[in-house]
Amino acid sequence: MDALRPINQTGLEQGPPAESAARATPVMEQYLELKAANPDCLLFYRMGDFYELFFADAEIASRALGIVLTKRGKHLGRDIPMCGVPVHRADEYLQRLIKAGHRVAVCEQIEDPAEARRRGGKSVVRRNVTRLVTPGTLTEDSLLDPRRNNYLLAIARARVSSGDDSRFALAWVDISTGEFRLAECDRAGLAAAIARVEPGEIIVSDALYSDAELLPYLRSLPAVTPVTRDVFDGSTAERRLAAYFGLATTDGFGALSRLELTAAAACISYVERTQLAERPALSPPSRERQGTTLVIDQATRSNLELVRTLSGERHGTLMAAIDRTVTAAGSRLMAQRLAAPLTDPQAIGRRHDAVEFFVVDATMREHVRGRLKAAPDLARALARIVVDRGGPRDLAAIRDGIGAAAALADELEKSPAAADELVSAAKALRALDPGLAPRLSAALADELPHLKRDGGFVRAGYDAALDEARALRDESRRVIAALQARYAEAAGVRALKIRHNNVLGYFVEVTAQHGDKLLRSPLNGTFIHRQTLAGQLRFTTAELGELEARIASAAERALGIELATFDALATEVGAAARAIKEAAEALAVLDATAGLAEIAVEGQYVRPQVDQSLDFIIEAGRHPVVEQTLASGSFVANDCDLSPPRSSTEGRIYLLTGPNMAGKSTYLRQNALITILAQMGSFVPARRAKIGAVDRLFSRVGAADDIARGRSTFMVEMVETAAILNQAGKHSLVILDEIGRGTATFDGLSIAWATIEHLHEANRCRALFATHFHELTALAARLERVFNATVRVKEWQGEVVFLHEVVAGAADRSYGIQVAKLAGLPAPVIERAKAVLAKLEAEDRAAPRAFEDLPLFAAANEPLRPTPRDAALNRMIAALEALNPDDMSPRDALEALYTLKAMRSSEQGR
Ligand code: ADP
Ligand code: MG
Repeated sequence: MDALRPINQTGLEQGPPAESAARATPVMEQYLELKAANPDCLLFYRMGDFYELFFADAEIASRALGIVLTKRGKHLGRDIPMCGVPVHRADEYLQRLIKAGHRVAVCEQIEDPAEARRRGGKSVVRRNVTRLVTPGTLTEDSLLDPRRNNYLLAIARARVSSGDDSRFALAWVDISTGEFRLAECDRAGLAAAIARVEPGEIIVSDALYSDAELLPYLRSLPAVTPVTRDVFDGSTAERRLAAYFGLATTDGFGALSRLELTAAAACISYVERTQLAERPALSPPSRERQGTTLVIDQATRSNLELVRTLSGERHGTLMAAIDRTVTAAGSRLMAQRLAAPLTDPQAIGRRHDAVEFFVVDATMREHVRGRLKAAPDLARALARIVVDRGGPRDLAAIRDGIGAAAALADELEKSPAAADELVSAAKALRALDPGLAPRLSAALADELPHLKRDGGFVRAGYDAALDEARALRDESRRVIAALQARYAEAAGVRALKIRHNNVLGYFVEVTAQHGDKLLRSPLNGTFIHRQTLAGQLRFTTAELGELEARIASAAERALGIELATFDALATEVGAAARAIKEAAEALAVLDATAGLAEIAVEGQYVRPQVDQSLDFIIEAGRHPVVEQTLASGSFVANDCDLSPPRSSTEGRIYLLTGPNMAGKSTYLRQNALITILAQMGSFVPARRAKIGAVDRLFSRVGAADDIARGRSTFMVEMVETAAILNQAGKHSLVILDEIGRGTATFDGLSIAWATIEHLHEANRCRALFATHFHELTALAARLERVFNATVRVKEWQGEVVFLHEVVAGAADRSYGIQVAKLAGLPAPVIERAKAVLAKLEAEDRAAPRAFEDLPLFAAANEPLRPTPRDAALNRMIAALEALNPDDMSPRDALEALYTLKAMRSSEQGR
């Protein structure tokens, strides 16, 4: 690595100098001071064209990046380990370090080395840490996934003595787009709330981080950063939050609780801490009321493969199946909506209205999507410009975004019938200052460099002073070319070249073979020897020196003007930040909505009806992902009706039996996915859907299906089932796929049995339960809201044919041997299995059914009711509630008291 390093440009610092003295060198002193201020970060210490890392940092980085570890000088008598990354490739290395879970403090030279030299020979170039790069506070395109948000999440907890009723506030911010949101939850809802945000980084107070109860959970999450207490200080929270937005109070943000203020202020303080001088343009925090989004916990999310498959890919997910957006911002919004479907039927209906508008008006949809394709990522370009990490192309993105916004507003206003959401979007697009785009156009060149650093992005003719400086600079270059020709002729060396490098500036170069000529009279009067290399000799001349100064000053002047132009434009853009952000959001809404309309048309989805009931009627529903993998039309659509039966006010439980490969899991998931789609505001793959809004969705798969996650333990299955049985309520939808499969048959059967009873009696939710335990079908006769359903198969010439059709009733048998045959088990094994089965079945028919004698089944033969104690308690509560003391005479009251007492003693007598 060292060998590749160019000559150190500063000419002053050679890294920590090779000094064995016990005292630190001035550079080392500076380094150690900066490092001490950022102990939890790897320090990227800028030296010329490299960021250098020293000591333990160097060891960590060289391992993580696979770069050579060298040493440079000594500190306190020991070698200093060192490695470095070139500045122009820093982003790439940063990305790898961040991915590997590190945080990086970037330390820049904040003055020209020449200035330091002027201060005196031993002066050290001034340096400072200009930003901390952490996983949750990124802005660079190269470090971000364009189609995903990258959130920093702060978790604040209210001081409550007992762990269980703790309240939490969550604040999350994406500094690359400016989004800023707030929500509250309780302990039980915490994990689901975090899973929904999918943060890139989480910050908690030191105290919370070491809380015994939360510790195992927090440590299981990636990128959790504990921070000092002041960041989560409730007493200063409002002031910090208001100050960031330049306000006197936060009243304008709505009534935020102290806990919410604390979480929001923690985000702000952490952003300030990592961005140092810069202030990302954040939107005011928008608060989400509890209960407004469908709660989906982490296990359910992975299980349903919403944005990532169990093996971690995007392909094969619901997101991949339905995302037809054409911009990165649209895709991010889709992901947000998918992660947090709504619960309010009206809000959901508004989204459906907007999708319907684009479904009906195909021309409009096509035009809007066409225009959107030309819309750049306004939000991220703006964010970079505001924190002074923007380049010329970001300004161009703003220009093009404004253009696209105007065109789209025109387009939408052509139709008077547009839905509310689209009308507000059009309004936000109109609110952009139309004058900004032409001003940007006038200033920016047609071809733009990525970085502003080297200039070359301001259009010729935009600024007279710039044109003049550039002409001088370019003219001088022509003069140099002429000079080269003249020198070559004078020296009689055709291969004489004028070259440039950072150390010598312009110089004349000839091969060693011609060198002598220039060193001798008369040519040595013109050519002054500077350097002898292996193959070449280098010279300067007085003329070249003068030219050099002229070129340098013209180039410097030109660059100065360009950078000033950039700053002026960036300031103008910054001043319009709010309007730009709102327009960016509107573009995303248009894209997501038109994209949902696109898939609705393409996939023949229908508008679902979502209301407050407990209905769940899906006619001819399909699995949105599986159907795309099958030949068109070959997916078998299925109905599902979990609405309360006539005799009840609570939803049904389907008990689904059928052989392996019949389509049970597919059916279960399709109904869960249809629910998510409906509530996120999408149309759904069905002929008709009416869904009483679901408040929580749970999905679990029996352990055997879970091997992909590398923890196929029965324990996991049970922990997850426990979570459902403890949390699901009347408005929830529960999907249980072969629960109880991960253990011995009777254990599994008993657990499955008891689970269904609990769902029916205690949770009283709508549920789909797939099982291969045929014995469970007996429950339908005993529990009023449990219904049997089965996936039909046909036996044809000894082969099993899967019809994938869900019908009422129970599977007659499991067809295991037929499935085994399909799978290619050797014929003798199949024959033998058939013989064994026949014998077992004969014995089974002869003997009384063993499981009827199990206490479990005996118990179930009685009508199911709550435990006697619960029942007694309920009766007494009912009796109490029936009393109305105001209407009672003293005599009545006494009587009532006796009655209650009597109930209690009869209870005890039982
Ligand atoms: P099970 O859970 O009953 O073992 P799966 O749901 O895993 O069965 O389905 C097995 C395979 O059958 C799926 O991979 C899919 O290819 C196919 N399949 C399932 N349901 C349908 C359907 N409704 N129409 C067409 N093919 C289906
Ligand atoms: Mg299955």
